[in-house]
Amino acid sequence: IKKIGILTSGGDAPGMNAAIAAVVREAKIKGIETYAVYDGYKGLVENNMEKIDPEFAISIMNCGGTAIGSARLPEFKEEKVRQVAVDNLKKEGIEALVVIGGDGSYMGAQRLTEMGINCIGLPGTIDNDIVSSDYTIGFDTALNTVVESIDKIRDTMQSHNRAAVVEIMGNGCGDLPLYAAAATGADIFSIPESKLTKEEILSQVKKLHDEGKRSVIVLVSEKMYDFTSEQLAKDIEAASGYVTRATVLGHVQRGGTPSAMDRVLATACGVFAVEQLVAGKGGLFVGLENGKLVARDIEATLNMPRKDKSQEIKVVRDINEIF
Ligand code: ADP
Repeated sequence: IKKIGILTSGGDAPGMNAAIAAVVREAKIKGIETYAVYDGYKGLVENNMEKIDPEFAISIMNCGGTAIGSARLPEFKEEKVRQVAVDNLKKEGIEALVVIGGDGSYMGAQRLTEMGINCIGLPGTIDNDIVSSDYTIGFDTALNTVVESIDKIRDTMQSHNRAAVVEIMGNGCGDLPLYAAAATGADIFSIPESKLTKEEILSQVKKLHDEGKRSVIVLVSEKMYDFTSEQLAKDIEAASGYVTRATVLGHVQRGGTPSAMDRVLATACGVFAVEQLVAGKGGLFVGLENGKLVARDIEATLNMPRKDKSQEIKVVRDINEIF
């Protein structure tokens, strides 16, 4: 194997660049050239690929986002579109690919492997919603951003005797708010794995108000309710007596300098991915299992059940409810 490609697909995440850097350096050690495929699968189809210089790769290690772009290309589900991608790769002499992204991106990687291009998937997403990896590249950075934001919101809520609703991303996974609740002592949280009704939130906030708590923070996962966080804040204000403000953290959670832990995970995953490709393997997903890197069949990975978080949820709920 002489040339491999690398692409980032789906939502971007801090640490993707560190993974790219690791792949480029490990490949160089093994005498392999690495090609950047720009904007995910789109770059394969449009033949937008370019050799990556190792010095450039090192220079992007500490940058947020992805330096080689990401995009979504729904048409990649069609075999004739993927065939164009395979033909372009063959023309360039690129024999294998590293794909950094989420579940959707692995489906594309699996299909390409079936068409003769060995692909290895790496877990790149802030949401930590990939069931076959304890942690994903980007989660630690996003968590730190969320925690820093909640700390700041707490400062002002505490000063003014107020309540706050903070809406957090997660793509159906409650890990960011759950871990953030553990790290900040946020009083109440509602996540897909343990969803509270509006009435439950209102009565819990009112209880804290009646007990004399000076400020209350309510964390909610995005896209869980048919009412907005702004509306929830208004209802909390009416029900509890606290002046209440809503903050939707939004895309601020996706950006920023990758944390050291995300860079370390990205580097380990990148090296491991190149080793798999050199061993002639494909159709695999690299993930952390009990702190150890493993490579699993993509198909098996996509069918794994969600991890049971009920114990962690109970511990954080219990300790944060004490007042
Ligand atoms: P994520 O990787 O973050 O889960 P998406 O679900 O949007 O993001 O998937 C990213 C891209 O992966 C899609 O835009 C598409 O190009 C490709 N993809 C997703 N599902 C498939 C599939 N079944 N077959 C081929 N390609 C797919």
